This record gives sequence, structure tokens and C-alpha cells, in this order.
Amino acid sequence: MVGVEEIAERNKLHLVRTSTHNQYKAHCPVCKDDRRVYHLYVNTARDTFCCHKCGASGGAIQFHAWLKGVTFEEAKRDLYPSHAHNHKQPEHPAERLTRDQLRTIGFVGRTSKIAPKGVDPKVWSDRRKAELDWIWAEWQERLAWERRVELHVRQAIADGNMSQAQ
Ligand SMILES: [Zn+2]
Repeated sequence: MVGVEEIAERNKLHLVRTSTHNQYKAHCPVCKDDRRVYHLYVNTARDTFCCHKCGASGGAIQFHAWLKGVTFEEAKRDLYPSHAHNHKQPEHPAERLTRDQLRTIGFVGRTSKIAPKGVDPKVWSDRRKAELDWIWAEWQERLAWERRVELHVRQAIADGNMSQAQ
């Protein structure tokens, strides 16, 4: 999830620390606060914002919509571009592998679903898909190898038992 702190940064809203933990103040762009006047408060623990003058308030997505001057839906799409897209698509099987399983085939992790700033979400999602296909191919190979090893071990035990019996 994109938090209020990151949203402030993306919208170039400067947050100023307050004496309260997780609470920041900022100049409200609507109320045109300046210098030492701050009406806008941002809580990074609860991911909320509130202006004590104009009354604008809400959660992270609303904060982005308000600062950017777009609708809630547009703000949501802007923050989570691949999300809406991925909802329609079934999950890739490689996404179900655990971190430990990934490590056994030499992957330290998966690429994030959310494209970094400045990267075309479509390009990012294609690249991610290619990576998932690769992970899945490696995993299938690993499973096949494990089955072969298991067969060999069983065969060896069976042979051992037979020679002992003779
Ligand atoms: Zn205000």
C-alpha cells in the first residue's frame, strides 16, 4: 500500500515533523497557509490527513486525489496501476511459490507488481510476466529433478534390500 508519506512526496507537499509521534504538519494547499501557519495534519500511522481550517480529510487515496485534483477512482488507478489490471487476470502459478521455494531455485524474490515511478506500467507488467514464466519453468524443472532423485533413492533402497535378502 502507498502511504500518506509517499503520497505527500509524490505531490511535492513538504511534511514538517511535530512533537507527536507519527504526526506531521504541512501547508494546506487549499487554505494557502504560509510560513509558520500550518493547518494540515498528516498521520503516518493511521494513513490519514486532516485540515483544521477547510476540513478536508480522509485516507491515503483521498489524500492523493485531493492533492492531485483528481477523482477518488483516478487517484486509486494512479497509485495502483497494475492492480486494476491484475484483477481480471488469474494469478500466475509462480506467484504462489513461497520465499523458501524461490530460494531453492536461486531467486531472491519476485519483482513488485507496482511499477516504479517513471516506468510504463505495461512495460513493467510484461517484464514481470516474463520473470514469472521463467521462475515457473525453473520450478517445474526442480520438481522433475526431485522426482528423479526420489526414484533413484527408492531404487537404491529396493536393490539394497534385495541384495541383503539373497
Ligand atoms: Zn485547508
